[in-house]
Amino acid sequence: MRCGFCLPACPTFKETGFEPESPRGRIALMKAVADGIMTPDKAFEDQMNHCLGCRACEPACPAGVQYGQLIEQARDAIEDHTDSHRWWVKIARNVAFKKVFPHQNRMRWIGASLSFYQKSGVRRLVHGAGIMKLFPSHMREMETILPEASSKGVIEKIGTFVPAKGTPIARVGMFRGCIMDVLFTQTNVNTVKLLSEAGFEVVIPETQNCCGALHAHSGEMDLARGLARSNIRAFKDAGVDYIASNAGGCGALLVEYDHLLHDDPEWADGGEWFAKRVKDVSQLIVEKGRIPHFADAAAAANALQSGTKAPSCGKDGSSCGTTRITYQDSCHLRNVMKSSTAPRQLMKSVADIEFVELKESDRCCGSAGIYNLTQPEMANQILDHKMEHVKKTDAHYLLTSNPGCLLQMKLGVERHGQSGKMEAVHIVDFLYERISGEGKDGSVKK
Ligand code: SF4
Ligand code: SF4
Repeated sequence: MRCGFCLPACPTFKETGFEPESPRGRIALMKAVADGIMTPDKAFEDQMNHCLGCRACEPACPAGVQYGQLIEQARDAIEDHTDSHRWWVKIARNVAFKKVFPHQNRMRWIGASLSFYQKSGVRRLVHGAGIMKLFPSHMREMETILPEASSKGVIEKIGTFVPAKGTPIARVGMFRGCIMDVLFTQTNVNTVKLLSEAGFEVVIPETQNCCGALHAHSGEMDLARGLARSNIRAFKDAGVDYIASNAGGCGALLVEYDHLLHDDPEWADGGEWFAKRVKDVSQLIVEKGRIPHFADAAAAANALQSGTKAPSCGKDGSSCGTTRITYQDSCHLRNVMKSSTAPRQLMKSVADIEFVELKESDRCCGSAGIYNLTQPEMANQILDHKMEHVKKTDAHYLLTSNPGCLLQMKLGVERHGQSGKMEAVHIVDFLYERISGEGKDGSVKK
């Protein structure tokens, strides 16, 4: 079928109107290479790399074409045959994919170094000396919105087990992620506490690894499979009923470990065992847990006191006391994990909150893993269109469910002069603050 129903769903086609930048066009190119009509040259490689991997084309396709699997195979084949990487790209890929991401202790070391850079005054010196000007503008912008890194991960902060509040419903294994546990440690801590409040006992297996998503999306399928095997072993040993993810990008690969390992006779069953237990934290709470009582009164009062985000709704700027929130879907959470109603249900269950639906919230924000670093022009174009819709919501909080989307949204808020009026926050942090009264840093708000 070449019906083209997927075209309007594709962000890169929407931006360019160019057939090779559409799912149908990319599939035609892949087929031409597979049939030997075309050689996989640099132009082919570029076209595959322009794809965000957002998979918005999948739910739009009436024939059920599994585009995500096709693009991963195409990228894997490119990596097997390419000699176009420059020497320093080869070294960087080798170090990142083999020496850093798979080793959480090394990620921890990076977290400690970044934390030192941010807190010790080195960052001020670097900025003062104009060193940042040597970097491309998109990297400079990204550096300004990086959250505070941590040398301690979720296990160092709360241990490997947290009991359920009340009678336990099930035993949940928390997937902590690699970057997530360095840059968003408090979100990981809040995820565990939120799950406990919802009636789950939570275990955090120490031997778990990076999910392998960055490897799989970059054509390093063998490395991704190795990480999958190690995660299956860790969570099986922990005897969990479910596996909770708080990052759409990781969850989307975790939920496809069955496909990733389907050709491996030794691990295919393990892949299936793992995949059917994976759920996003919102999905898990809504489908299996006890939804805690969320209320915004204390948070709204706190925001008014701190003066940073005093909600105002009148045209004259008068305070109406109601916090307005909106939500940007994580593409992988929505299109692969099929979770778009659960986060909305939780947000709408918060008392004293006005939820405003964001136009085209199902359209990618341009983050897409490291796409905003490798394809900054297209990523910024997509982000700028996104922010036009975001501004119209007049929301105080812009929530999302994936660290990459969160950083991209923070960047959008800065680029579009919205800081001070609006804050981009992970949905877990927002919800947890509304049951506990604790701040994101763990301090208790008055
Ligand atoms: S994954 Fe996203 S960017 Fe890539 S072809 Fe599909 S809709 Fe377009
Ligand atoms: S991928 Fe699906 S929606 Fe797109 S052209 Fe092919 S059959 Fe139609």
